[in-house]
Amino acid sequence: MTPSELHPRKRTSEDDAGTNKRLKLTADSGTTDDHTEDLKLILPKPVTTNPAQFADRKRHIETIANIIKLKRPSLKTPKLKAIEIEYDIARNTTHRTYASTLRNAILKLQHPEKFQSGNQVKKRSQEDVLKLLKSIEIPISKLRKYGYVMSVPESIPNAKITRNCQRCDTEFKLSQQLEPTTCEFHYGKIRRNPDNKTRYYECCLGPKDDCKPCDKHKYHVYQDQSVEEKQSMRSYVKTEEIFEQKGKYRVLGLDCEMGYTTKGFELMRVTAVDYFTLKTVMDTYVLPFGEIVDFNTRFSGISALDGDFVSFNQMIQELGTVMDKDTILIGHGLENDMNALRLIHSHIIDTSILYPKFESTPTSRKSLKDLTFKYLSRNIQVGDHDSAEDSIAAIEIVRYHVDKDGCGIKQST
Ligand SMILES: [Zn+2]
Ligand SMILES: [Zn+2]
Repeated sequence: MTPSELHPRKRTSEDDAGTNKRLKLTADSGTTDDHTEDLKLILPKPVTTNPAQFADRKRHIETIANIIKLKRPSLKTPKLKAIEIEYDIARNTTHRTYASTLRNAILKLQHPEKFQSGNQVKKRSQEDVLKLLKSIEIPISKLRKYGYVMSVPESIPNAKITRNCQRCDTEFKLSQQLEPTTCEFHYGKIRRNPDNKTRYYECCLGPKDDCKPCDKHKYHVYQDQSVEEKQSMRSYVKTEEIFEQKGKYRVLGLDCEMGYTTKGFELMRVTAVDYFTLKTVMDTYVLPFGEIVDFNTRFSGISALDGDFVSFNQMIQELGTVMDKDTILIGHGLENDMNALRLIHSHIIDTSILYPKFESTPTSRKSLKDLTFKYLSRNIQVGDHDSAEDSIAAIEIVRYHVDKDGCGIKQST
C-alpha cells in the first residue's frame, strides 16, 4: 500500500462511473526498480493452506505478469501486481478451486469487457430493487448484536488522565500527547503462516515473535473505547429526528475516514455513493474537535487540513440533503461509520453481517477485501487510497447478493 502524500482532490462524477471502477484492476504508484521486476525473482506470498505447488504458483504469477505487461503497458510493476493477484486467489481458494478461480481471473484480465456486470445482471425496476433491498435490511436486534448503537446511550466521560497507545500500547499522559516521542509499531494485520503455528505481520512480512516494528511516528495515539465515552464527547441522534426533509437518494453506500487527534480517533471525511449509479454524491472533509496528532494517511488518504474542511454540523446538514430517515445505508462494518457520525439509523445493510465469517461470533469478520475478491473476483485496496472504492465494493457485494446469490437463498461459499 502506498500512502498518498498529496491532499486528495475532490472527486467528480466522471471518476466514479461504474465501468471505470470495475475495470480498474490496479493503482500502482509507479515506484519500482529493475531488480524487483525481474521475472526470475518471483516469490509467491505464503498462505495458510497452499492450494497449489510452489512451482505452479510461480508459473501462474509469470503468466499473469505477462498479460498485465501486454494489456497495461503503462503499469511499471506488473510483477508485484501479479504476485498480489495470485496471492489473493491462493489465500481464498483450496486445491480444488484454485485452478478454476485462477483461470477466471486470467480470462478477466485478458477480456475485461466481457466481465462488466451490466451484461450479467438481470434488469429490474428501481422499485423492485428497493423492495428486495428492504427485505435484506439487517434486523435491529441483529444490528445491536454487531455493535450498532440503536438508542441514545448514557454519557460517561473517561476520567483517566492517561491512555494506552492504540499502536504500541505504551501508556502516556493525555496532557503530554503532543510532546514528541517515539511510537514504533506494525501497521499491518497479523496473519498465519502456512505451517499454521507461526504468524507474521502483513505490513513487512516479518515473523510475529521476532520482528522489529516497521513503522514509526512522533506521537502516541488513542481511540475512545465505549459508546458512553463517545456520547460524552458528542451526542448520538436519531436520523428520524434530524433529517426531516426528503433526501435525494433512496440507497447509499457510506464510508467514513478517521484520523487521530487529541480527542481520540475522530471523523475527518464522509463519502456517500448512490447505489443505482455508483456516483459519489457526497465527499466532505470534516474538521475534528481536537488537535491533529496523526492523519492516519495510509488509511484515510488525508494529509493536511485545508479550506475544504467544514464543521461537523455543516457535514450533518449536507448529509441531510442526500439521505433521510428511510434511506438504506450500505457499508462494511458500518457500525464504525455510524458511531463516528453519531447517528442512530434503522435501515442498514452491512456486508460483514450479510456474509459473516462465522454465524456465531459477530466480532470475527471477513474483510471487505476478501469478500470483494471472493464474490466479485476483484482486487481492491491496492495502491493509492480511494475513498469511494470501499463504498462501491460494498454496494456491488449487495448487488451480487440480490442478483446472483438469490438474497442468500443459494449461499455460495
Ligand atoms: Zn510491519
Ligand atoms: Zn505508541
